[in-house]
Amino acid sequence: MREHDMLYIDGAWREPEQGDPLELTDPATREVTGRVALGGEADVERAVAAAVRAFDSYSQTSPDERVELLKSILGEFDRRAEDLAQAVTEEMGAPLALARGAHVPTGRGQLASAIEILRKYEFSELRGSTEIRQEPLGVAGLITPWNFPVLQVAGKTASALAAGCTVVLKPAELTPYSAVITAEIMDAAGVPAGVFNLVTGLGSVVGNALSSHPDVGVISFTGSLETAGRVTIAAAPTMKRVHTELGGKSPHILLPDADFGPAVRTVYDWMMAMTGQLCSAPTRTLVPRSRLEEFLSVLVPSLEALKVGDPRSPETEMGPLVSDQQWQKVQHYIQRGLDSGARLVTGGLGKPAGLEAGHFVKPTVFADVTNDMVIAREEIFGPVMSVIAYDTVDEAVAIANDTPFGLAGYVVGSDLHKARAVASRIRAGYIVINDAEFDWTAPWGGYKQSGNGREFGPEGLAAYLETKVLCGG
Ligand code: ADP
Repeated sequence: MREHDMLYIDGAWREPEQGDPLELTDPATREVTGRVALGGEADVERAVAAAVRAFDSYSQTSPDERVELLKSILGEFDRRAEDLAQAVTEEMGAPLALARGAHVPTGRGQLASAIEILRKYEFSELRGSTEIRQEPLGVAGLITPWNFPVLQVAGKTASALAAGCTVVLKPAELTPYSAVITAEIMDAAGVPAGVFNLVTGLGSVVGNALSSHPDVGVISFTGSLETAGRVTIAAAPTMKRVHTELGGKSPHILLPDADFGPAVRTVYDWMMAMTGQLCSAPTRTLVPRSRLEEFLSVLVPSLEALKVGDPRSPETEMGPLVSDQQWQKVQHYIQRGLDSGARLVTGGLGKPAGLEAGHFVKPTVFADVTNDMVIAREEIFGPVMSVIAYDTVDEAVAIANDTPFGLAGYVVGSDLHKARAVASRIRAGYIVINDAEFDWTAPWGGYKQSGNGREFGPEGLAAYLETKVLCGG
């Protein structure tokens, strides 16, 4: 049992001012795994005040000093890597192999790349005798989701600290364990008091208090469109900067000359491995009509062979969904798919046999989907694929862009030149060609209703900076 009844504020673990802790359960078994403190508005006040005080000196540190601090954080992160992996498995049900092989390394990648970016970043530029400076924006409020907890927390924190901002982190209710370990890492790494603060708690309380707080200079939010709207409205009266990274309904275009190997790997890597709980999941697969049945005959057996089950078993390839609420939501969308007349080719309603205890679902594929069906328009956040047939590449591009979202896109084609040309026509922030490996030094973020601004890479650091001009003298 994990008992975390304290908040990390001003360099020490402190009791929340009020409220009972939140009880958490294991997504694979529904057994209670522990309790975590629910902070309140008074705790946000204390954390922001500490971050404001610390900003005075931390914002004046040199990039070299911040590189040293981030190196020390990276060292502690490495020492706690296995603890982080275990925490992610316990809090969100990610297979341990994935937690070790993807969740923790991508978080590490963010810290390591922030160090490299900071080493080279130009914070000042002379245009004639005028100096254009980039200065830290102030206190950064970081609001993170449950689906990629280590990556999100490490990525936002690394960029904010590299920029010279101080931080108040509000992690998702469902994934506080990895965030608590992050605070322990900061403490052990010698991060000065008030530079990093952790207030666990409800979004409607802690997240809202941070978003509306006049002394917070920037909010970096990852989560749903609906909540991003609330955050933006709460932030508006104080004119703070708001960066949002939201959902998607990302297209996956298989060109007429596509090799199905990378196409199936894309489905596995970007969707099934995460039980579909990825904002960039390739949920709409566009296939040439003449190759549809051939594609299904390759895809379906590979999904039916996928090992769904206990996240702690080394063979497991797909774990449970994070919560009963998510499970109900995914069932609802599978039912909508059936009702709309789409052809269910594998998976479907209910839990896989023998896995009734946890929030398990079946990898599910619908074919004969048209882009106006609900399952092709709304984000499901589960392992449910919509396969849409197309006749011409122009039509495929039009379908790909016929969505309110624009976070990611995927193109598979043997002629790289043609694949890149199609990729450039997709209106989305990150396009993967032929299942290329994720580049965590590249900026990440969406077009349209997938959000505002970019995180990760130099653009992610710039998100925490404000421009100042020194003219004359
Ligand atoms: P999801 O649907 O993936 O759970 P949410 O957008 O609800 O996504 O949550 C993302 C993050 O936003 C979480 O940390 C959550 O606690 C927080 N949050 C929820 N409601 C609010 C709110 N009104 N203001 C600020 N943050 C919130």
